[in-house]
Amino acid sequence: AKSAGRRTYMRYDDAMDVSIRKRAILSGALRKALDHDEFRLVYQPRLALDSSAIVGVEALLRWNGAEHGAVPPDEFIPLAEESGQILEIGEWVLREACLALRRWQQHGLAGLSMAVNVSVLQLLRGNFPEVVRRILEDARLDPRSLELELTESVLMANAGQTAEKLLALRKLGVSLAIDDFGTGYSSLAYLKRLPITTLKIDKAFIRDVTTDPEDAAITSTIITMAHSLGLRVVAEGVETEAQMRFLVGQNCDEIQGFWLARPLEAHACLAFMRGRAPQ
Ligand code: C2E
Ligand code: CA
Ligand code: CA
Ligand code: CA
Repeated sequence: AKSAGRRTYMRYDDAMDVSIRKRAILSGALRKALDHDEFRLVYQPRLALDSSAIVGVEALLRWNGAEHGAVPPDEFIPLAEESGQILEIGEWVLREACLALRRWQQHGLAGLSMAVNVSVLQLLRGNFPEVVRRILEDARLDPRSLELELTESVLMANAGQTAEKLLALRKLGVSLAIDDFGTGYSSLAYLKRLPITTLKIDKAFIRDVTTDPEDAAITSTIITMAHSLGLRVVAEGVETEAQMRFLVGQNCDEIQGFWLARPLEAHACLAFMRGRAPQ
């Protein structure tokens, strides 16, 4: 199965004649990006609806290239996946995110979880659970404070091997979320078969949730189903108070989106979380 990222890229590719040339140029620049310190992470806070507490953040990768300026992740991550560079980049992301959480803990913020996006290649190549274990140990983090976000296509890619890796990660204590839930073609059977802890409802369903009865029905059904399977539900792309209220009414567990906060630089995220901490 192709990854969602790859599908995104192919659509982009079809739409633009220059894209093959642009892609080759970007690929070359991407190869130097790690060495040249061109990556950084931003962090988007997540809010628990029952307690109104900030319970964690999602780390999102940014590339500001010397030659190309800011390139959106939807453009460069598929390239990094095709070239295999995502392995090295993904490991950098994990380490950087864990160290940021560790620093925030040292600033007195407890009980936060860090969500990190993981590509299929990272999960399947090498000994990923061991890589994760070592990074957590180096950062002196409780594995329960790390959540890995995987897309549905990841779970379909290589069922047997995937299940084995996910089990090893769960044994470490790490949480496992399905990202962009509802957009894949896969059967729901994997929810029973795999040790998933969290579903993230794709922002495509949230956008019109207060005006489109079908999106409302899909969203409320996902939440009910997830809860009956013992899973936590995060809604992403929440941009308005009305969307937030709808999700409160449906007993959604957490929200993430511009209504609460945009992805923030580490220092701004720390300030935001401190400002919201119970006094
Ligand atoms: P995603 O994992 O689904 O991340 C959520 C995306 O939605 C982010 O886009 C975020 O900035 C954006 N977003 C957050 N709140 C809102 C909102 O209220 N409204 C709208 N319209 N958008 C919102 P971003 O940062 O451009 O990332 C795009 C995608 O790139 C991510 O989608 C993820 O699939 C991928 N990505 C980002 N960082 C990494 C990474 O470190 N590793 C991997 N493998 N993929 C990553
Ligand atoms: Ca994500
Ligand atoms: Ca998502
Ligand atoms: Ca996505």
